[in-house]
Amino acid sequence: MLIVMKSGASASEIEKVLEVIETLGFRGHSLPGANRTAIGVTGNSGAIDPAHFENLAGVAQAIRVTQPYKLISKDLRPERSVIKVGNSTIGGPELAMIAGPCALEDHEQVFSTARIVAESGARFFRGGAYKPRTSPYAFQGLGEDGLKMMAEVRDQFGLNIVTEAMDEHGVDAVERYGDCIQIGARNMQNFSLLKYVGQTRKPVLLKRGLSATLEEFLLAAEYIMAEGNYDVILCERGIRTFAAHARNTLDLSVVPAVQRVTHLPIIVDPSHGTGRNYMVEPLARAAVAVGADGLIIEVHPCPEDALCDGAQALTPGQYLGLVEQVRRLSEVMSESTAAHAGK
Ligand code: PEP
Ligand code: MN
Repeated sequence: MLIVMKSGASASEIEKVLEVIETLGFRGHSLPGANRTAIGVTGNSGAIDPAHFENLAGVAQAIRVTQPYKLISKDLRPERSVIKVGNSTIGGPELAMIAGPCALEDHEQVFSTARIVAESGARFFRGGAYKPRTSPYAFQGLGEDGLKMMAEVRDQFGLNIVTEAMDEHGVDAVERYGDCIQIGARNMQNFSLLKYVGQTRKPVLLKRGLSATLEEFLLAAEYIMAEGNYDVILCERGIRTFAAHARNTLDLSVVPAVQRVTHLPIIVDPSHGTGRNYMVEPLARAAVAVGADGLIIEVHPCPEDALCDGAQALTPGQYLGLVEQVRRLSEVMSESTAAHAGK
């Protein structure tokens, strides 16, 4: 059930609706929007009688939800969500740039990359301290020592830290040191982990699973939101197909498909999406053109020496070139959207 409040509904009227939801044994999720607040109800196994709400002061409408998702839906919030991440945002008019190495390797590698990322004007620094590696013998990440370096990067460069957690212990650690918890493709359907990050108050970057459908992807976000954490950013990072010319097939069609259904922002990862250095820039441009809210890019001071994902890492020079291109493209995109809206 979705309860849409009148545009002038007061805080106490909203509070009253939440109270009634709780008395019925369910959970209310209030999402304020630009023009009105809507309240999603979760925790019910069957339909709820709208009569419980229809006559409460300030209620415009109580609507039964027929789709599998409630909280991610544009019915709940028609305008796009802007998610606060550290001292910046993702989902607003500015293209969000998240960049950094695949894995944090050592102090020198982390700091030299962070310097480039800050110089590019990006607001977010990425880098894994806990790495989900296919082989147990491959470099697994620096763990908490890596997170401490990330906290230093934030202090020194003012960059907001985006880093992956693979389990509950990792979530606790990333909550302490980082600004945004990344849930990797391999954990997109780790439902207990999704519930756990849903209980934190840090924004979550949720990557699409290796073979996840649109619905599975959105329901994973719904898991996080159902626990009360509404700050979810979706990320398309390529899916498995028969195509062998790239590591994954970057599915840019998912961007408009996601935007049709949800208010949540979606960014694109052309690094994992292609796995090939030479494909990253063209696909980054395509992602901006298709309307993505941001990009996440792997960059390494010396890709041939990278301990993880060197084949897709950009050199600092390539990365700076990419940023310049996508910025210009993004400006053109906003101008044309504004012109279109003015017609
Ligand atoms: C990563 O961002 O380094 C990563 C492991 O991504 P994914 O989960 O998309 O493979
Ligand atoms: Mn990687």
